Amino acid sequence: MKRLILALLLVAAATQAAVVDIVIKYGTVLTMAGPNIADGGVAIDKGKIVAVGDISGYTGKTTIDAKGDAVLPGFVNTHTHVPMVLFRGIADDRELMDWLQHYIFPAEAKNVSADFVKWGMRLGAAEMIQSGTTTFTDMYYFEDEAATEAKRAGLRGVMGETLIDFPVADNKTWDDAVAYIRRFVKKWQGDPMITPALAPHSPYLVSREHLLATRALANELHAPILIHVSETRAELKQVAEQHDNMTPGMYLDSLGFLGHDVVAAHGVWLTPEEIRVFAAKKVGVAHCPESNEMLASGMAPVADMLRAGINVGIGTDGPAGSNNNLDMVEEMASAARLQKIKMMDPTALSARKVLEMATIGGARVLGLDDKIGTLEVGKRADIVIINLQQAKTQPVYAVESSIVYAASGSSVITTICDGKILMRDRKMLTVDVPAAIAKAKQYRDQVEKSLQYHPGS
Ligand SMILES: [Zn+2]
Repeated sequence: MKRLILALLLVAAATQAAVVDIVIKYGTVLTMAGPNIADGGVAIDKGKIVAVGDISGYTGKTTIDAKGDAVLPGFVNTHTHVPMVLFRGIADDRELMDWLQHYIFPAEAKNVSADFVKWGMRLGAAEMIQSGTTTFTDMYYFEDEAATEAKRAGLRGVMGETLIDFPVADNKTWDDAVAYIRRFVKKWQGDPMITPALAPHSPYLVSREHLLATRALANELHAPILIHVSETRAELKQVAEQHDNMTPGMYLDSLGFLGHDVVAAHGVWLTPEEIRVFAAKKVGVAHCPESNEMLASGMAPVADMLRAGINVGIGTDGPAGSNNNLDMVEEMASAARLQKIKMMDPTALSARKVLEMATIGGARVLGLDDKIGTLEVGKRADIVIINLQQAKTQPVYAVESSIVYAASGSSVITTICDGKILMRDRKMLTVDVPAAIAKAKQYRDQVEKSLQYHPGS
């Protein structure tokens, strides 16, 4: 009789537990919205977070044991050019203008196609999933193909079709590019995973007239703008010469270009005046420390920007010649270290702060902070689990320090985006990685051939 009662009680307890899609348990949970939770969990249902911390009332159709691991929001890469993975390593150790004019632009003109972008995005999506990125911000060509691939891989993307003042792979004229953007935005706007955007390259490769047209188009379409701003001293010189001695940020402000819907990549040389204007206009900044190091662009005044109240996220920039990977864990460590050197102050940017920048900070830059960036009930379930039980991450005294300074992208073992498991225990579930790598090798051979010097040509 006693046994029967016990069995009935157990059945009653089990039926009381709400059954949800996924339960992650026994991990150290970094909600990024408050204190960390030791031995906690996250319950996920229908793509959303339904409980954080105490998840004892939930039973998962899928249960993930995160004992000894860190559970945190997926990383938000606020600036990159993902399909450029197929140019990874093509022309390193060069100056930005030399690299762009003599290597990247010619290589793109000869090789970039819808197929190139599709396979580049597929390989890049694999790399992002394997290193814990769940949201990324892209600027490239054939963004429609890129968006289709990103969605197929299960990632969240803010994706901008490039506008630039010379013929490119997909659009030969400005009017073609504008027509493309109209179609692209109309097709993707309202998609739960993809936010279509406009990506005028920079104040030095897009004319005044076209920057004004871009601003008007963004207002009309209600789409965000992604742009490179104040990256190198060469840009400062060029903009000053062409536009009344103005700095790039003040020049854009003089056009009425700046606003909360603008994501400015780099901001390396922003002046105190520009920082005040960016803060007042709520311009988001994508800090790309490894690109700035690789191209010797300089050290962005990140501590000053944060103090002024600017939303600053972290970006890898393109994986060809300016990084060369899409690893946000490595990027966080670089952001912290570079700022310490710039300020000659080891307290200038902490592990906790860069972790915020790589998650909720990036979500704010993209205007997605009501949906993602923290682990809170009601938000979309974009979650990564980092293995802290490796030799390189043990022992753990402070979990933020272990993630930023000791772990690497390959320490990410499980990646979930919008409640869908994209990688579990390093097993990729949405991207055929060997096929993407095989195609990348084919493209390398094609690109190499296309750049060979032909006498008389
Ligand atoms: Zn860039």
